[in-house]
Amino acid sequence: MNQLVSGDIICDCLVIGGGPAGSVSASIIAEAGYDVVLIERAVHPRPHVGESLMPATNEVLERLGIQEKIGELKFIRKVGVQFVNPAGKASSPFFFRQHDDQPASETWHVERATLDHCLFDNASEKGARTMESVRFLKLERNEPGNHEVLVDDRGETRKITAKVLVDASGQQSVLAKHFSVKEMEPVRKNISIWTYYQSCNDVFADEAITIIARTKEANGWFWLIPVDSKTLSVGLVGDVGTIHSKASTNAERFLEFVSQNEFVDDYIASLNLTQFGDFIAAKDFSYKASQPSGDGWVLTGDALGFIDPVYSTGVLFALKTGELAGDAVVDGLKSGDLSQQQLGSWYPEYGEKVELLRKLVDLFYDGNFSFGGFISDNPDCSYQLADLLMGRVFGREKTDFFEKVEVWKNQQKQLNVTS
Ligand SMILES: Cc1cc2nc3c(=O)[nH]c(=O)nc-3n(C[C@H](O)[C@H](O)[C@H](O)COP(=O)(O)OP(=O)(O)OC[C@H]3O[C@@H](n4cnc5c(N)ncnc54)[C@H](O)[C@@H]3O)c2cc1C
Repeated sequence: MNQLVSGDIICDCLVIGGGPAGSVSASIIAEAGYDVVLIERAVHPRPHVGESLMPATNEVLERLGIQEKIGELKFIRKVGVQFVNPAGKASSPFFFRQHDDQPASETWHVERATLDHCLFDNASEKGARTMESVRFLKLERNEPGNHEVLVDDRGETRKITAKVLVDASGQQSVLAKHFSVKEMEPVRKNISIWTYYQSCNDVFADEAITIIARTKEANGWFWLIPVDSKTLSVGLVGDVGTIHSKASTNAERFLEFVSQNEFVDDYIASLNLTQFGDFIAAKDFSYKASQPSGDGWVLTGDALGFIDPVYSTGVLFALKTGELAGDAVVDGLKSGDLSQQQLGSWYPEYGEKVELLRKLVDLFYDGNFSFGGFISDNPDCSYQLADLLMGRVFGREKTDFFEKVEVWKNQQKQLNVTS
């Protein structure tokens, strides 16, 4: 639903970007009774990468009261994950309900256009003034309590005055860039190339697992995610230099890696799938903002930070930061405290939890580490690993999983030296 607003706009809060993070923040702030404007430069439903969710997303969706609505969208239920090694050997699938047998342990493979549209509409239903085809241009006046922002509204420049700003503009990170707080991380210079395959028949059931298949080169991997009964999303992630050296176009690079990967090649052939549409590429570099907030502004979702997508963490982080920043804005508006400290009060605990998943990503890329080997020597850690794979870190007790990993790695080193 798009609400037309003419002339200059005055509001309590301007949320920039109508993806998952922005829609959640806007819903929460509007529901608390504040006047929120949510601007989105595209028009929903708009396509987006990131189709596999983590079970912990349920916790935020439940808070928003839209579980049932999302259930009605008939996405494919995601019931687990499976990892395949570079030699093409698949590990046993990890089924979430074997770890915790309740519906909330499952999640979805989604068509992002549909999910994001649903979240955006929810913000509108909660009372946010939603505007599409409206693009943030510039922070004209940086004054907490009285910011002035210029936007492009279908070719017309318009002024929005807001007490507080939420940057939910995804990788554009418009405010993070304005305040020069976006910092690239010096780990892994990866690129992603993705496309879609389809069948004429219903080859995927209403439940599926996400498959992560390692490549032999580029320290990379493929994702295989069924997004509806006929369509498979296939993405390649790996070292940009190695992938670029393979061929001159993204299509050739992608197809070259598929042909080298017996597991992926066989999977596609066995279902008789045909590639369709573009080969889309994106840099996959990790980054995070050096500060999550400033006086009168706060960052959420990809505007705040991005980590490698191997465990499908992005939408969870977007929903969670949307929620935490939304609550901080509500409290700030209530008390009249829109300071950097108030708006970022949630971040220290949040950042600690994100760090756990970041460490899990590092282990995935660590050629000297084997999850199978570690769990077989430390079976008591399998529950901790399961929680991490399900994204169940927020509001949970501290885990000593990574301390145990370090001990195990040192033991392996010793064994290698003595053998
Ligand atoms: C290759 C790859 C694979 C991924 N796979 C997964 C996955 O399987 N699972 C998962 O959970 N996550 C995945 N992610 C991450 C996930 O896509 C993102 O983390 C998630 O979309 C972040 O949500 P967001 O709301 O912060 O940003 P976005 O979803 O990007 O939304 C930001 C919105 O802001 C709008 N915007 C931008 N600039 C402006 C402007 N100037 N004015 C107004 N509006 C603006 C954009 O149009 C957009 O709609 C993947 C990412 C990549 C790169």
